[in-house]
Amino acid sequence: MLTKIKTATLTGVEGSPVVVETDLHRGMPSFTVVGLADATIRESCSRIKPAVLNSGYPFPQERVTVNLVPAGKPKEGSHFDLPIAIGILSLKWGSLPLMDTAFLGELSLDGKLNRIKGALPLAMSLRKAGIKNIVLPQGNAEEVSILEDINILAATDLSGIADHITGKKRLPFYKGKKRTDEMDWDMDFSQVIGQEAAKRAVLVGAAGNHGLLLMGGPGCGKTMIAKRIPTIMAPLSYEEKIEITGIYSVADLLAEDRPVIARRPFRSPHHTISYVGMLGGGKRPRPGELSLAHRGVLFLDEFGEFDTKTIDAMRQPVEEGCIRITRNNEEVVFPSSVMVVAAANPCKCGYLWDEKKICSCGPRQLEAYRRKLTGPFSDRIDMHIRMSPIPKEALERMRQDALSSADMRKQAGKAMEIQKERYQGFRYRDNGSLDEWGIERFCRLDEACRTFLSIAYDKLGLTMRAHNRILKVARTIADLASSELIEQQHIAEALRYRISDGDENRLTV
Ligand SMILES: [Zn+2]
Repeated sequence: MLTKIKTATLTGVEGSPVVVETDLHRGMPSFTVVGLADATIRESCSRIKPAVLNSGYPFPQERVTVNLVPAGKPKEGSHFDLPIAIGILSLKWGSLPLMDTAFLGELSLDGKLNRIKGALPLAMSLRKAGIKNIVLPQGNAEEVSILEDINILAATDLSGIADHITGKKRLPFYKGKKRTDEMDWDMDFSQVIGQEAAKRAVLVGAAGNHGLLLMGGPGCGKTMIAKRIPTIMAPLSYEEKIEITGIYSVADLLAEDRPVIARRPFRSPHHTISYVGMLGGGKRPRPGELSLAHRGVLFLDEFGEFDTKTIDAMRQPVEEGCIRITRNNEEVVFPSSVMVVAAANPCKCGYLWDEKKICSCGPRQLEAYRRKLTGPFSDRIDMHIRMSPIPKEALERMRQDALSSADMRKQAGKAMEIQKERYQGFRYRDNGSLDEWGIERFCRLDEACRTFLSIAYDKLGLTMRAHNRILKVARTIADLASSELIEQQHIAEALRYRISDGDENRLTV
């Protein structure tokens, strides 16, 4: 007697279908799982047997062999409990119409079903394989209900599922709750008063997906600004929501009251974060902060304090939009398309640019601090934004002029549309992702602009890299103005976002 039950396994954030074959033989009672199962699955017997017995069903007093197909693919996760239990139970039930039904769920000893991680990507792979119905824990139902064209049968315990299969009592199809409007943010750029220049720079950064470094003393509002950047990015598409929710599902960061990630993420890891915490990895690879910020903002406050090795290692993933981790000869890929926003004090004590307080750093300390901020990763940071504290007495006067998130989102959206159209058929997503070839092709300057930039180039002692970044940023500024040509005023504005290379003194001359 042999039964076949459908389920799935995870590799990184990708699911793939698995068939659980269960076979019964005469002999001493035993329970064996084969087919590259990890320790959690091999331990499942000690959960499944009491769960079956406590649900009021007999457990076979024979040799039980479970084979996970395809045998060559490593499998992991406690969600194999349920399909294995159903495989064993259905040996006694005879042939059942379970061809287009799959099972996911972890069992408690009393037969209750526990929430699992990775339910959404697992369900996606099953849907792709033509499965029509998924039986899963109640706690995962809302998360998976974001998927269309699949029936969700949410259960709380094993006996409820057994009753469903044997036809005693059918489980109802789960209907997802109505979702709240994702543009309903509880913060807005209109709350950031008096920093219109910094807001303009942030708008340019968000419109072209340029990495930002916000520089300014304590209390000038760097964090306040960074947190609001997702409010001016385009709303997530349906596919993006599924993609991001899948990452959070694998990282086990979804909760029953927050089953779907409907807004662009904002992640702000502390500077003491480990290499693996930032980039992902581990024995069972988990996504790191870089992937949890996918399609949103990764905010690195106190940028100079982060571990240099970690920051340097982020360079390639940020450029490529994904991180590859190899484990047991298998490659796990985590997505990592992020907008990097770093923040730093202008000097160690923080008061270098303050008009009221006096900076206590010596020239050597200043130099060492600068060097820390301009490592190889700062290559990826196209724009440097200088911020000063706004005097309290000026705030009230400036309140009316504060640009709102909706205004900024509209402007950024227009510029993004232009980029999308321009880069159709090319490997670029936005101006921020242009390489040398792309800059050559899409950031052409006329004679007058070339002269203007080359004068600035000499005067400011710009490097070739800085030169390219200025062109990319100028391209975005031109797009914001719906100008096909990059004009002198666009270059002039882009030059302003280059202040912290140690050339600020020359700039202010
Ligand atoms: Zn200082």
